[in-house]
Amino acid sequence: MPAESLGPLHSLPIRRKRAATGLRRTYPYKLNAADIRRDFPILDRRVHGKPLVYLDNGATSQKPRVVIDAIRNFLENGCANIHRGVHLLSAEATQAYDRARATVCQTMGASRPEEFIFVRGTTEAINLVARSWGDLHIQAGDEILLTEMEHHANIVPWQFLARRAGAKIRVLPITPDGALDLDALPALLTDKTRLLACTHVSNVLGTVNPVSEICRMARERGIVTLVDGAQAVPHGPVDLGAVGCDFYVFSGHKMFGPDGIGVLYGRGKLLDRLPPWQVGGDMVERVSFEESTFRPPPDRFEAGTPNISGAIGLGAAFTYHAGLDWAVLRAHEDALVAAAHEALQSIPGLRIQGTVPGKAPVVSFTMGGIHPHDIGTILDSEGVAIRAGNHCAQPLLARLGIPSSARASFACYNTFEEVETLAKAVWKAHRYFG
Ligand code: PMP
Repeated sequence: MPAESLGPLHSLPIRRKRAATGLRRTYPYKLNAADIRRDFPILDRRVHGKPLVYLDNGATSQKPRVVIDAIRNFLENGCANIHRGVHLLSAEATQAYDRARATVCQTMGASRPEEFIFVRGTTEAINLVARSWGDLHIQAGDEILLTEMEHHANIVPWQFLARRAGAKIRVLPITPDGALDLDALPALLTDKTRLLACTHVSNVLGTVNPVSEICRMARERGIVTLVDGAQAVPHGPVDLGAVGCDFYVFSGHKMFGPDGIGVLYGRGKLLDRLPPWQVGGDMVERVSFEESTFRPPPDRFEAGTPNISGAIGLGAAFTYHAGLDWAVLRAHEDALVAAAHEALQSIPGLRIQGTVPGKAPVVSFTMGGIHPHDIGTILDSEGVAIRAGNHCAQPLLARLGIPSSARASFACYNTFEEVETLAKAVWKAHRYFG
């Protein structure tokens, strides 16, 4: 719920006795996690007879009731297609869809809603930019700079573009603790570099990259920048003015919104000049059998009937998200990470990938020769949902020298009791397989 429902949330200092280490710690903020958890109906679920401990938020977050209600209300009471109808329901649906765009724009510190394109998610947003901007601007011999910690979604579309254009992919390496090696950046920003595409937060390491600084360095050299915000937006508001990128992309489903909806932000001057990448209804001005002309953004990039209920759900997710006290919640997420690191590190053979200070609440780990899928299966039997595999980041895992890892990823509704349950379950996996 928006801010007012969070009133009682900040009233009690948290003191948690953590069984895994026996330590007692007072946290420097006030949060009653139970209040925020009440907003998420699924968190009451049991799996395999145990309370659900949902630590797969990096894959997708759970949804608050306000988002579920917004979608249900649209489908039950307001379902209609947008833009085309002369009837009341269609006008209402169009208003709700436009309102969702305006909400996203406003909460990201921007002022032009037309700079925000609704897409299916991060993957589609990057494909759109690679097709529309990339095919227009990238030529043979050009260079596209990525980083070693990118998700496949921010690698493969550029690889395809490079192959189409005869361009070259170059890669900014990471340091041993999992930060971007910024010392190597100036030499990689050459007079051939046309685009720098970089993740805001690593989905494996949790590293929060200094994207403002990186974008500034690129901008000074006339290089276009795209920031993948998929793992950043769930953990607090993102101010696009502060980031200073040309394109910013993210998925709704990782930040309390529904799946199948996401956002491409594009700087107005760039977007205005771009050709559409998908064509059809609802994005054209005039069509004849000889030729067609296209509407300005955002319509130009939203061919066909969009995900209307998804956009409305995303608008509700943004309103909910913006109503939370992120100063408190960030401190809470930081403390969850610290507690998870401390509890897990004492388990023999366990290694955590990504130890950069100030990381997002993502804890990836390996444990001796135990296969991460086996760890995940034991954890599941204890009600603990984590991810195991390559996390769609095979080049990063190759750099780390591991084929796969287990990953616990937290959201602001997770608790210290859940960190304890995680640690106990990992101990169990260690005893079983170790
Ligand atoms: N980038 C990052 C950093 C991600 O974590 C993800 C999802 N795991 C994606 C891109 C792709 O997001 P989606 O599957 O929602 O398109």
